[in-house]
Amino acid sequence: MLTFAGKGYSPEFISNFDRIAGLIASGAQSVEIVLAPDDICAPLLGDPTCHCRNASLSERDRFAAEALVDLLHQPIDQNAKVHLTPEILARMRAAFAAGTTRKACNGCQWSPTCDGIARDSFRETRLLCG
Ligand code: SF4
Repeated sequence: MLTFAGKGYSPEFISNFDRIAGLIASGAQSVEIVLAPDDICAPLLGDPTCHCRNASLSERDRFAAEALVDLLHQPIDQNAKVHLTPEILARMRAAFAAGTTRKACNGCQWSPTCDGIARDSFRETRLLCG
């Protein structure tokens, strides 16, 4: 979400992600963590070949969650609520740009894109709050 720039798997995926980013930007600052495909994945789940249930994705999610435990000082597991205040988003962006929360990104095809967005101070991101 930190680096979502309106690119992705399909127009439906992008539109849905824009909707969720808009909810957060308009003040719905609490997101619930789920250990499964989530609301962002929803447009992909009708495709039997979608990767959202792959073991590799579960491992990537686990790495991302572990990084956020240290950063946000709270458990990041099933049903945890994360309050995405501007201050927390700023902290998450700084850590992402510094590379300290990016173990989950190893081998990701989108890494060059996300690297560029972070280098450009997240100006391209569609999550505009903060
Ligand atoms: S590089 Fe991949 S895993 Fe990392 S933030 Fe970007 S899309 Fe997510």
